[in-house]
Amino acid sequence: MNSKPILPGATIGVLGSGQLGRMFAMAARRMGYLVHTFSPETDTPTGQISDKEITAAYDDRDAVREFARGVDVVTFEFENVPSSTVEAVAEIVPVRPSGHVLHTTQHRIGEKTFLASRGFPVTRFRHIRSIEDLRAGLGELGTPAILKTAGFGYDGKGQSRIDSSEDAAKAFAAVGSQEAILEAFVDFEREVSVVAARGIAGAVTNYGVIENRHSRHILDFSIAPANVPPEVLLEATRISESILVELDVTGVLCVEFFLKSDGTLFVNELAPRPHNSGHLTIDACVTSQFEQQLRAVCGLPLGSTEQFSPAAMANLLGDLWQTGEPRWPSVCAFPNVKLHLYGKHEARPRRKMGHLTARAATTAEALKLVRAARESLTPKVE
Ligand code: AMP
Repeated sequence: MNSKPILPGATIGVLGSGQLGRMFAMAARRMGYLVHTFSPETDTPTGQISDKEITAAYDDRDAVREFARGVDVVTFEFENVPSSTVEAVAEIVPVRPSGHVLHTTQHRIGEKTFLASRGFPVTRFRHIRSIEDLRAGLGELGTPAILKTAGFGYDGKGQSRIDSSEDAAKAFAAVGSQEAILEAFVDFEREVSVVAARGIAGAVTNYGVIENRHSRHILDFSIAPANVPPEVLLEATRISESILVELDVTGVLCVEFFLKSDGTLFVNELAPRPHNSGHLTIDACVTSQFEQQLRAVCGLPLGSTEQFSPAAMANLLGDLWQTGEPRWPSVCAFPNVKLHLYGKHEARPRRKMGHLTARAATTAEALKLVRAARESLTPKVE
């Protein structure tokens, strides 16, 4: 592979146009790159920060080729870009991570099959194509079990918990009676993640273990470093770096884990891009996950992942706007809290509109601080 570095002044193409692309574009522009974004929408979080926003359908081949001809390398911020789009781009310009990474991680069954075949720890699972498959699968895996659509619904969309085999038909209907994966339930204590990166020449690095707390299936808080025993830290980071190598990723990959109380880890899912749990790296680390993605896809040396201090991140969902505009000056009155907003015009409930990061001497203090800062945003009802 031609690994001549892509230098500042070059143009990076981004497939997708959400907040991940926005924070990537900010990192890229800070280092003197130009950014073109491609998605079906206009006035997008990424487009607002880019030099050029291309609005076209992902299956508009001519538009895709024109986009590819205008950039030096392409990365993505949204992994549901059709494989055929990525293939069309790859005929013209390098795509990093490559289409096969996207292909493997786009489909829950492909992803879990890959992980299991390489010996990575995943919960037992079955491929479900019909209600008969589901009944048989429940007989083998027992209950409780989790049924998820095979294609990625994210943030807990398209999944159903099954507590009794009598609920099979209801659960199959709940995921739309389509191809699905049935997973044995993991009785986990905590959810953690590792954001890791791999450069073109194969160097790997990671940001340690981050603890994630969800609310209604959406990430609510991330806390780093996670308070885990040293052997869990070692194992989670070893697994994550091995996945990057086995998948041959050039770029950033986040591994989400379930951690049981006995220290056992199960990989839940992979995201071949920067991840919500890694947003705190912007304010708390020498190199953010977005700059790391930039360095990796441009063939530059990776940056230090050193963390300046314990940190906590809180998501700001559209729900916060339901009683009026959040009180931005209140959050700015917290000197160690940083506000990030994604430029989205419509604050729908559950929509990720922004996040806050707090730094403090301990993770407990950082969490307390970020929680208080977020609470201060809610408009006072007179
Ligand atoms: P996912 O969309 O796969 O990230 O799942 C969303 C959430 O559902 C996870 O964050 C867990 O809280 C829960 N969950 C998913 N799979 C399992 C499982 N096999 N066992 C227990 N809980 C699960």
